[in-house]
Amino acid sequence: MARARRTALFALTLAGTLLAGTAGISAPALAQAQDKVLNLYSARHYQTDEALYANFTRQTGIKINRIEAGDEALLERLRTEGRNSPADVVLLVDAARLWKAQVEGLFQPLRSPVLEARIPAHLRSKDDGKGSEWFAFSTRARVILYNKAAIKPGSVKSYEDLANPALKGQVCTRSGTHPYMLSLIGAMSEHLGEAGAEKWARGVVANFARSPRGGDTDQIKAVATGECGVALSNTYYLARLMRSDKPEDRDMMSKIAIVMPDQEGRGTHVNVSGGALARHAPHREAGVQFLEYLAGDEAQRYLADGNNEWPAVPSVSVRNPALESLGKFKQDTLPISSIGRAQVNAARIIDRAGWR
Ligand code: FE
Repeated sequence: MARARRTALFALTLAGTLLAGTAGISAPALAQAQDKVLNLYSARHYQTDEALYANFTRQTGIKINRIEAGDEALLERLRTEGRNSPADVVLLVDAARLWKAQVEGLFQPLRSPVLEARIPAHLRSKDDGKGSEWFAFSTRARVILYNKAAIKPGSVKSYEDLANPALKGQVCTRSGTHPYMLSLIGAMSEHLGEAGAEKWARGVVANFARSPRGGDTDQIKAVATGECGVALSNTYYLARLMRSDKPEDRDMMSKIAIVMPDQEGRGTHVNVSGGALARHAPHREAGVQFLEYLAGDEAQRYLADGNNEWPAVPSVSVRNPALESLGKFKQDTLPISSIGRAQVNAARIIDRAGWR
């Protein structure tokens, strides 16, 4: 009964607002196929994901209905739908958001020997006490970039250097309230302690070239034009521009240098995209099957390479010239679950430091 109600609700949802890739699905079709269906809420929106999903359907006969939206919109939807939610699997980006969804009880317990064998322990959430878990499926690094004409090579080598008074008026970042920043600042508080991280944050804010605004690509552009000397970006935004056919993108990239931070110290901050079983998944088995599929060799390649990320499964490699140009680098080994948790400290730090 509950399932039928959810299915009907989902059909309504489809008829209504958001979304793509689902044209032609009618309520009767959904009802008939209810055990061969998977409802996926995804914050991913990359062309190559089409092949990823089609492949799963080919292998299992399970059809995927997708709701794609921004991370926050998806979480809001899950909260509103509550136990009537048709969502089976949820895919999100950044540990800060995955952690938030977990503590809000939007996921459910999942013991999967396949996932435990494939995804390294530091890329899985810790049991939150209620057993709910999430798993990383790809990784990205948060790196420093600088304008080659404005900054001396070797003068910015670590996140701590961003607070060096020598960089006064040079540093740009997106808002400290964004999950990418909350995760990085959270990681800093794990390493330096909250007081140490706050001192660092105040130093970074004192070096701002402008008040925080825009996304990572906007920081890259501002560094290329010289408005900012130094900024932070996730690696896939940089790799996307490196691989671009547009001359203006290549020109932009020729003006900047990329630094993998903290190579002489604890290593570069790494974050993830990941997924979990939704709390009220009506098709639990299909959900588990799909999550295990995402940890497979081929799916890992699609997932990672499609967005210029690295696979979470260590034995899988991708040939991505842009990522390879960054070279092999030392990664911060802080468990991804502690980075998520540390955003509580990070939120206090950005408030006190005025990193808005
Ligand atoms: Fe992003």
